[in-house]
Amino acid sequence: MSHSSISAQPGSLASPSAQHVETADVIVVGAGPSGSATAAYLAMAGLDVLLLEKAAFPREKVCGDGLTPRAVRELITLGIPTPAEDGWIKNYGLRIVGGKVRLELPWPDLASFPPYGLVRTRKDFDEILARHAVKHGARLLESTNVTGPILDERTGAIIGVRARSMDEDGKDAGGPVLEFRAPLVVAADGNSSRLSMSMHRPKRDDRPMGVAVRTYYTSPRHDDDYLESWLELWARDKAGKKVLLPGYGWIFGVGDGTSNVGLGILNTSAAFGKTDYREVLKSWVDTLPPEWTFSDETMTGPIRGAALPMGFNRQPHYDLGLLLVGDAGGMVNPFNGEGIAYAMESGRLAAEVIAQAFARQSDAGREKVLQSYPRVMKDALGGYYTLGRGFAKMIGNPEVMRLAVKYGLPRTTMMKLLLKIMANLSEPHGGDASDRLINALSKMAPDA
Ligand SMILES: Cc1cc2nc3c(=O)[nH]c(=O)nc-3n(C[C@H](O)[C@H](O)[C@H](O)COP(=O)(O)OP(=O)(O)OC[C@H]3O[C@@H](n4cnc5c(N)ncnc54)[C@H](O)[C@@H]3O)c2cc1C
Repeated sequence: MSHSSISAQPGSLASPSAQHVETADVIVVGAGPSGSATAAYLAMAGLDVLLLEKAAFPREKVCGDGLTPRAVRELITLGIPTPAEDGWIKNYGLRIVGGKVRLELPWPDLASFPPYGLVRTRKDFDEILARHAVKHGARLLESTNVTGPILDERTGAIIGVRARSMDEDGKDAGGPVLEFRAPLVVAADGNSSRLSMSMHRPKRDDRPMGVAVRTYYTSPRHDDDYLESWLELWARDKAGKKVLLPGYGWIFGVGDGTSNVGLGILNTSAAFGKTDYREVLKSWVDTLPPEWTFSDETMTGPIRGAALPMGFNRQPHYDLGLLLVGDAGGMVNPFNGEGIAYAMESGRLAAEVIAQAFARQSDAGREKVLQSYPRVMKDALGGYYTLGRGFAKMIGNPEVMRLAVKYGLPRTTMMKLLLKIMANLSEPHGGDASDRLINALSKMAPDA
């Protein structure tokens, strides 16, 4: 389809100060994994896509950098090669440590998912995905900070966005207001999604929320071929009593001489919001074997943190011309805090719906297809996320968490099932008894 760059005319929807107006079929705001995947698929479908990103690549993103087989499946579908010689570090399963138990669980052997995961820092990862979208025809504008929606005065629907150029330091470059117009805008602007907020879509309080912090250390463990998670994270409550937190610490080898070490905690415990997570990270790391060299001296950057929006905590996922993908739509898995796979998956599903919508001749026909996107997302993940919400609530009780670590962890068969549930790795059709159990539970649970 076509695109054009036009000057603001008196009487047009452009604001008087806007000097540059561009149009497209679809505007995607944010070039994280959700935005870049959406843009790449849309471009492949022949649509003219503008991908607007406030930062300039390469840019850092606070993350564990861990990719499960579910995320790798998305990379394969998107056509991103991941050879070891290009710095992609493969992992073959999850090592779980708790109490005296240390359990290595290989990723399940399934037809629907590859049998390996990957680790890649987000500094590289996000740029690779954004360039991939460009390779397929998306128009990426970096250093472009979207400041708000342009609305159709009559319907209240979004018909474009306003933006400002950023300078090299990430500050407003002081240039003219930029305007971009399209009949559909995709919010891929992450957890805080200012664009969704400006379209009156706040976060839902009845969904779990996580918080995670991480840093990097130089370590001999940098080339570990298992992801490792530690289930025992302790903090002190108001009375000074030690409590087990609902979450886990991770150690992911980045393969470049460093390990990504961090922790994620759910908001379902009484300790949430009252705990210094950086301190919890430090005190946990202090208990780890000294030969792993996780110490202040080997830390290569500050401890940084961010929120994990879970279980569809922002909805509806489509209305009034604005469609939500990834963290903007609260799509992090409440079982394990994984968000990249779901960001990419929602981008793929959104692009399928959008491509079908644009093939319709009338506005009404197009709208009808776009209105199906929330249902598509619920069908894909709704039941599973409802289960995840129950799980998050349950382990928010420190006693449940303690009993789970004490009695669950030593049981390998149960842990194998739990790995499949928590990483959302089951065969959708056929499979073994555990796949059928997971699918039945997800189907029985009401949509999130
Ligand atoms: C500490 C931590 C560890 C994590 N570890 C893992 C992990 O190991 N594995 C995993 O799968 N997930 C992990 N997650 C979750 C994962 O990081 C997110 O789910 C994922 O980044 C979501 O992708 P996204 O594209 O939706 O949003 P983001 O990655 O947040 O991308 C949003 C993009 O939008 C841009 N943007 C924002 N506002 C604007 C604006 N106004 N104008 C233009 N651009 C804008 C941002 O600059 C950014 O590039 C972790 C999260 C945290 C906080």
